Amino acid sequence: MSRKIGLRIDVDTYRGTRHGVPVLCELFAKHNITGTFYFSVGPDNMGRHLWRLLKPAFLWKMLRTNAASLYGPEIILMGTFWPGPGIGKNHAGIIRDADAAGHEMGLHTWDHHQWQSKIDKMTSEQLYTSLKKGVDMLGEILGRAPVSSAVPGWKCNDLVLDNKAKFSFKYNSDCRGDSMFMPMINGKLLSQPQIPVTMPTYDEVLGRNGITNVNYNDYMLSLLKPDQLNVLTIHAEAEGNVCRDMFDEYVRKAKDMGYEFVKLCDLLPQDFATLPQGRIVNKEFPGREGWISCIEVQQ
Ligand SMILES: [Zn+2]
Repeated sequence: MSRKIGLRIDVDTYRGTRHGVPVLCELFAKHNITGTFYFSVGPDNMGRHLWRLLKPAFLWKMLRTNAASLYGPEIILMGTFWPGPGIGKNHAGIIRDADAAGHEMGLHTWDHHQWQSKIDKMTSEQLYTSLKKGVDMLGEILGRAPVSSAVPGWKCNDLVLDNKAKFSFKYNSDCRGDSMFMPMINGKLLSQPQIPVTMPTYDEVLGRNGITNVNYNDYMLSLLKPDQLNVLTIHAEAEGNVCRDMFDEYVRKAKDMGYEFVKLCDLLPQDFATLPQGRIVNKEFPGREGWISCIEVQQ
């Protein structure tokens, strides 16, 4: 029986890169596991993101997850009154260390805030430029192009997929769902498979349906399915910070259950033609603001 967990690490902020990534790399080394990092490499304007979201639903989420402890107090100001600092430029060494430790290198985004707030209005040219800036910066840091990419906030559409096809990504991870698939846009089959995330994230789950830090790991372990696709997303800002010890225990318990943590590329089949074809559709999602991209597999 195959028991694998594709481990995906999203890095959204300057602080998450600086503090969270080294913490996670140390934890992974301790457990002798590897995963796929998705780095944000342009300006950190996430403070702007938090201000924009000052709405009741978001405030409730802040209270539930104690966002200030996840992101740090300076996140509130970052990018609001001055341009956010360049993450890749300032933390190239940290990214290279994660690469040298054997983890897979992927692009999350150039500007996380811009992507999440403007995606609906971005033109094909703007999407291409954003992707190109990210690919170029990460390529310069690593000395080679990133293998994969994953949009911020699971905000993807056909125009994004069309532009991703212009880059050398072997595969992408842009949506939620239960199975890998080959995306179709306007009747055209693309060559970069999608590896969806199957499990919810910490900030989506905590504080809902009686889930607390005490029973969080047991809940997440209950979602694992032997012989099926399991893909977990953690965040450098959460599991690399205040949720570190809890995640450490999760890894230990999952390994005790016979699960192996792997890079996302290790989940891909030899022959992509064996994968089903599907489309990306946008849906409302519990615990998340607005829509996110999910798969719709065509049988
Ligand atoms: Zn993100």
